[in-house]
Amino acid sequence: MIETVNDQAFVRLCQNLAADRSSQLAAARGNRLPWPSDQLARMADAGVYRWFVPTDQGGAGWSVHDLTLAYLKMSQSCLASTFVLTQRIAALKRVVVSPNQDLVQRRLPNLISGEASATVGISHLTTSGQHLRKPVLMAEKCDGGFVLNGFCPWVTGANDTKLLLVGACLDDGPADPSVQFARQILALISTDAEGVSVDPGFDLIALSETHTGRVRLDGVFVANEDCVAGPVENALATLTAAPSTGSYQSSALALGLSAAAVDYLKQQTERRPDLLPGAESLQSSLEASVETLLQATQGNPGCSNEQLRADANSLVLRSTQAAMVAAKGAGFTCGHPVGRWCQEAMFFLVWSCPQAVLDANLCELAGVE
Ligand SMILES: Cc1cc2nc3c(=O)[nH]c(=O)nc-3n(C[C@H](O)[C@H](O)[C@H](O)COP(=O)(O)OP(=O)(O)OC[C@H]3O[C@@H](n4cnc5c(N)ncnc54)[C@H](O)[C@@H]3O)c2cc1C
Repeated sequence: MIETVNDQAFVRLCQNLAADRSSQLAAARGNRLPWPSDQLARMADAGVYRWFVPTDQGGAGWSVHDLTLAYLKMSQSCLASTFVLTQRIAALKRVVVSPNQDLVQRRLPNLISGEASATVGISHLTTSGQHLRKPVLMAEKCDGGFVLNGFCPWVTGANDTKLLLVGACLDDGPADPSVQFARQILALISTDAEGVSVDPGFDLIALSETHTGRVRLDGVFVANEDCVAGPVENALATLTAAPSTGSYQSSALALGLSAAAVDYLKQQTERRPDLLPGAESLQSSLEASVETLLQATQGNPGCSNEQLRADANSLVLRSTQAAMVAAKGAGFTCGHPVGRWCQEAMFFLVWSCPQAVLDANLCELAGVE
């Protein structure tokens, strides 16, 4: 069990995550990597799920600052497993703050110990398919609960977890299309429940090893007892988690990957002084961004969360591509870490990006002030 982010054992955990990742890369053909089971098992042994749960609910109650730092360091070592972890934590923390006390008591102990894990299919409530007239996953009230029909477009690691936290919309609003599907539920369903089919996962340009794909729900019954929230408008917003890393985690992971690329550049400068100005400049941008992020976690925001994330996205793209410049053609071959980092960096352009972040990224790429 690791008790604080300052433990030597935490440093060892990160070293082991990096070593696992390296050996998977060495054994891989091209960019096909295995599901990061070794890394996830190490995290569970380290008691990682406890870190995110308050002490009065049986957790270790780490501060948002320490959790964000932990995400930074772990993603620098292995982005894939750390990303899978964020999705499990996204489910866990909604259970932690659920008003459904019976569900909390039934589910939380096993989720904290890592004996059970849950992942999320909720992006269709926030960042996916927002232009569609009809929500992709609907809930209909029935005796004792709800029946779910439709699909979750994006779920990471659903074939490796027993539980799935999904968001679904009710068709019970007035005829105004802007509010028709306003009420939502969040529910915990079993991945082997009748009517649930988990796709094997998309072929992605990076991170295919996170087994991210669609989950279809055909007439899946959810009992009221398994509702985490709702029916209520904007169900995700009603569950305010404490401690909450949600707003910082994607920036932390982007900066973690950026740190891996900057480290590579710095190593190269030992024999290639011509790379020094670029490496030093990126290093100081990274340090400034990390400082701004960690200050924000302590209630001293230097800018909005959207700006933090847009800056982190910019840095991860620039630093991984700078590493490619240094690695030259060798970096462009499959299996070289730099090429993989460049592909992984693009993930941050699409993962959990609110409109303001998309706008900022597009303006920067287009050279618009
Ligand atoms: C590797 C990976 C893992 C993920 N894991 C999870 C997870 O575990 N859980 C989870 O909940 N989410 C997850 N997500 C989802 C993620 O957070 C985003 O919600 C998702 O990337 C948004 O992309 P989308 O294609 O669904 O967006 P959409 O907005 O649905 O866009 C899809 C397409 O629709 C069209 N379109 C978009 N906007 C408009 C418009 N305004 N008008 C007309 N056409 C439009 C475009 O052609 C676009 O290509 C994951 C995503 C990735 C890439």
